[in-house]
Amino acid sequence: MPVAEIIAIGTELLLGEIQDTNTAYLARKLRDIGVDIYRATLVGDNETRIADLIREAAQRADIVITTGGLGPTVDDPTRQAVALAVDSPLEFRPELWEQILNRFTRFKRQPTENNRKQAYVPAIAEAIENPVGTAPSFLVDTGKDVIISLPGVPREMEEITERSVFPYLKERFALKGLIKIRILHLAGVGESLVDELIGDMETYTNPTVGLLAKSGQIDVRIAAKADSIEDADRKIAEVEKLLRTRLGDHIFGADEDTLEKLILEKLKQLSWKLAVVECSAEKILAPRLQSAGFWEEGNLIYETSCTQDQLLTTMQSVKNRLNPEVVLGFSLEIGEERHSVYIVLLLPEGQQELMRYYGGPSGTAPLWLSTTALDCLRRNLPDTN
Ligand code: ATP
Repeated sequence: MPVAEIIAIGTELLLGEIQDTNTAYLARKLRDIGVDIYRATLVGDNETRIADLIREAAQRADIVITTGGLGPTVDDPTRQAVALAVDSPLEFRPELWEQILNRFTRFKRQPTENNRKQAYVPAIAEAIENPVGTAPSFLVDTGKDVIISLPGVPREMEEITERSVFPYLKERFALKGLIKIRILHLAGVGESLVDELIGDMETYTNPTVGLLAKSGQIDVRIAAKADSIEDADRKIAEVEKLLRTRLGDHIFGADEDTLEKLILEKLKQLSWKLAVVECSAEKILAPRLQSAGFWEEGNLIYETSCTQDQLLTTMQSVKNRLNPEVVLGFSLEIGEERHSVYIVLLLPEGQQELMRYYGGPSGTAPLWLSTTALDCLRRNLPDTN
């Protein structure tokens, strides 16, 4: 598989004034067509530094993609930097100038003398038309590696990538391979225990297995490289089977699944109503339940603002008054070093109580609490299969 490096150019990226979304986009898309990415860099608008970086990257990678710095102003140094890196002087391309003029005519604007600068590319470069902007892109194929320079504006960069760059790369590197990702979602288990259970699998090379811990949830990512979707599916299925054996019911779903959607489905199958009682006015769970569609289903009762001492009596009174099959109650206490949640479930067969502690930052405590409470509910609902 060919290896690519991405270089995002722009001083405003380095200063943190804008976020580099181009690298994330390219990394994801390159992976999908079967190109490996080992490194991505940010660099300011400085010709020499960009040229050095392109040279270094080209020594390591087969494909170097730059984004940004193709505008008409003096601080748009990419053209000159590539020319320097590949040792090929800039050359005026009448056809590019024609394209730029046409675009200005279409938008009833006058090009400035600076815009002519955009019609210059390194002599050995192949120009790539930009149908959505004025900054033409170009690529240099040295025979050993390929350097591709794309505009910084995300919409332009994406359009050119899809339309011209990927078809070119697929042909140039005879790309057949693809990478398929499957993500298993876990809750109610700590990262260290998961690591202990599947640590040996995290050293696999194809598919790879990786962990991503979020507040209260852990994602296990299986990434398979293969020549066909069927082959990727086969590779993933094998590893997933083993992961499911080891992780059991800590796994609550995969890919697009969320705890709240799965719980809503289950409650619908059971024809059960859920009441939530929260010891604060914040409605910590409400946004998640709302986006899963609980309110539309009309099977949710939400009560807030009782004190922790009143939690059980409030839950009991909601149960007596409105007769939901399940009542979930919780309180969150933010501490100096750790935060605690107290979760109570009233179910037809009785009451469940759970005390959990969280040592993460207090800003993420509500998310952690909502995941922990939903997971507790998920684990205690009866099987519908
Ligand atoms: P143009 O001729 O349109 O200016 P350009 O290639 O010179 O194109 P830049 O001047 O580097 O592009 O960037 C233009 C704008 O595109 C930036 O102001 C920023 O809003 C956006 N942009 C640039 N690079 C990135 C990036 N890596 N991620 C997200 N947005 C970016």
